[in-house]
Amino acid sequence: MKALVLHAPGQAKVDDVERPVPGPKDVLVGVRACGVCGSDLAREAGGAHHFPIILGHEFAGEVAEVGEQVEKWKPGDRVVAVPLLPCFACANCERGLFALCADYSFIGSRCDGGMAEFCVVPEGNLFPLPDELIFAQGALFEPATVTLHGVLALPKPGAYRSVVVLGVGAIGAFGIQWAKTLGASKVIAVDIREDSLELALAVGAAVTVNSREENAIERVMGETKGGAELVIETAGVPASQTAAWQLARPRGRVLQVGTAAKPVEFPAEVFECLLRRELTVHGSWMSYSDPFPGREWSMTAETFASGQLIWEPILSHRLPLSEAAGAFSLAHRSCGKVLIETGSVE
Ligand SMILES: [Zn+2]
Ligand SMILES: [Zn+2]
Repeated sequence: MKALVLHAPGQAKVDDVERPVPGPKDVLVGVRACGVCGSDLAREAGGAHHFPIILGHEFAGEVAEVGEQVEKWKPGDRVVAVPLLPCFACANCERGLFALCADYSFIGSRCDGGMAEFCVVPEGNLFPLPDELIFAQGALFEPATVTLHGVLALPKPGAYRSVVVLGVGAIGAFGIQWAKTLGASKVIAVDIREDSLELALAVGAAVTVNSREENAIERVMGETKGGAELVIETAGVPASQTAAWQLARPRGRVLQVGTAAKPVEFPAEVFECLLRRELTVHGSWMSYSDPFPGREWSMTAETFASGQLIWEPILSHRLPLSEAAGAFSLAHRSCGKVLIETGSVE
């Protein structure tokens, strides 16, 4: 089969590789669409667990073959991959906190993923793609669930009317939409890129702020009359991580979704926001809850199927697998999602 193989840092190429064989409880998925995640860019740059590896954890496709003990799926079923492979045995898994598993594996980062014609997935790691959705939408399930997981973990997820989203890539674009779906009346998007801010408007932000051109803190304070009830940080850069605390209103909440690639330094007066405003900072990791994979996945399927999630503007590039060698550099430059397509994605 064809696959985009990452041989070494910065060295991805489309190769012919052995088609994987499903074990007794596995499913062989014919991948139709696979997204490039921001986390894949870190792996491609040298952070992969091993080389060579086929990356890709955001994918959807059709069941091609099933292992002899698989009962739940049959060839032709349309499915979305659920990439986390929790151990289901550690103390965190016992509490239903699968994203916090102490001994997990992950499709597309610790084992081969979906940037290929086929990928082997355990039968419990597939989610049905509703008939009315196309594979390209299925490939967006995972990033959509990531932000939803964070929002659903907040006390009273529907109670935040003014919301600021810092950083608008795919995760931020879904953050804007989940905030609105759950009850926000005003979502303000902050980014330094004009194309990100256009994306924010396309998915329903009421106000956009280019923090390179204006003082985002002053603007947000004015727009929200003293700070946002909820700030969702998805950019994962120190300027944004420290701005988050300054944009929240007293007793407000900060949801930290973006990871940190560099040390984050809080000036004393910014750190004081945490105390003087009595803020609550919530960390969020991946997208799973009990029963696995969790309501993040079923809600994403339902909300996509009802047409409430705007997705087309989030896809910035769609490449056939044969041209996927350039997918990572394209994703580096793009604010939206780069999708690798194998065959028809309809
Ligand atoms: Zn991802
Ligand atoms: Zn575990």
